[in-house]
Amino acid sequence: MNTATIDIQGNAISALVEEFGTPLFVYDADVLERTYHELRDVLPVGADIFYSLKANPNVSVCAMLNSLGTGAEVSSYTELVTALRAGVAPRDVIFLGPGKDEQELAACIEAGIHAIVCESLDELDLLDSLLATAGRNEFPVLMRINPAFGSKGSGLAMGGKPRQFGIDEVELRDSKSRLAALQNIRVKGVHAYMGTRFLNHEDVVHNTRQILATAEDLAGVLGFPLETVDFGGGLGVAYFDNENDVELAALGTGLTDVLSTFSARNPRCRMIMELGRFLTAVAGTYIVRARYVKDSMGEKFVVADGGTNHHMAAVGVGSFVKRNFPIRHLSNTGALRPYTVTGPLCTPNDVVGKKVQLPEVRPGDLLAVERSGAYGPTASPGLFLSHGFPAEVLVHGGQAHLVRERDSVEDLLAKQHLVDFHPAF
Ligand SMILES: *Cc1c(COP(=O)(O)O)cnc(C)c1O
Repeated sequence: MNTATIDIQGNAISALVEEFGTPLFVYDADVLERTYHELRDVLPVGADIFYSLKANPNVSVCAMLNSLGTGAEVSSYTELVTALRAGVAPRDVIFLGPGKDEQELAACIEAGIHAIVCESLDELDLLDSLLATAGRNEFPVLMRINPAFGSKGSGLAMGGKPRQFGIDEVELRDSKSRLAALQNIRVKGVHAYMGTRFLNHEDVVHNTRQILATAEDLAGVLGFPLETVDFGGGLGVAYFDNENDVELAALGTGLTDVLSTFSARNPRCRMIMELGRFLTAVAGTYIVRARYVKDSMGEKFVVADGGTNHHMAAVGVGSFVKRNFPIRHLSNTGALRPYTVTGPLCTPNDVVGKKVQLPEVRPGDLLAVERSGAYGPTASPGLFLSHGFPAEVLVHGGQAHLVRERDSVEDLLAKQHLVDFHPAF
């Protein structure tokens, strides 16, 4: 994490910026590939990796990951269309989310995806009636459980507490007759997601063991064959100084142990691990240009052309003390001094990094926020102050591809309607 990336596959970042402007997100396909293989190589062959589009819904990022071998976990109609356009086979798509509407369910039926992950008993009823209308039956469904046990080691814990996600394990256990009444649905497995930003492999292995045991137990109690288990994922990446990346070899050893015991008992069961952040974060860099550098009451500020409007995650949400993403100076070296790096928004919260140690920053210099390929634009208030969303570039095979155009004024105004308050006489 200590050397600045000033070159991506032979493309100088300064040249990319010349061509595409700032603020800019750049994704390095070599890093996407390396990250995928590092995980793939330690997982047992029977475990499929599904990409959670939520982390970075760009169609080309999704297509790149799919070309490597990932399926797709989608949670909205647009994400479903994105995955299909990216070339993901419907048999490798699952759809989840607590608030699916009829259009989304109908699109899943139409596409014939691997499974809809149902999150409430009422959703099952709605899906069952839509299937009846469509003249379809035996439609595959995974039951998302809100486990009775809590998760360990996540920045955002799931399980063991009231949640809008999934069906409480206890309630599901009592639902045998309600499930039996469904005519057109085939329950074929269980889904559980225990939280995000797991960095300790032992926690992931522990949670997976519990999920698999619960899945087997529920299949027995409710009497359905276990054909798919999605045991979540939520692997993190180290962002802050006090964090370390997941020890993948140890994770692989632990998961292989748990998964092989499980699949020995359930040889035909598909096992899915779903991941967003882990697959895309490290491959992405957010590049901003310093506009103004100034002092305020003894502190140095860099006011850059992009900030939390594109990269809310860099605010370090959820942490009491502001911690900084790795930020590098691309235009200067030399003695370090602390700078607070802000964006252009008119709110004091638009701070990308607080007291970041950087070589001298001058107006026009480029700064790179590293590990920014996940939860960037997609999770940020890009419309705030009408700056719009930045351009995104994917570098693949040495070639820079513009994979999202920067919003223009016309893009931003196109959906607004001007009421005429000056009627002609
Ligand atoms: C957000 C989410 C993911 C992706 O989480 P990451 O931490 O980015 O891997 C996967 N599954 C579900 C159910 C989610 O809500």
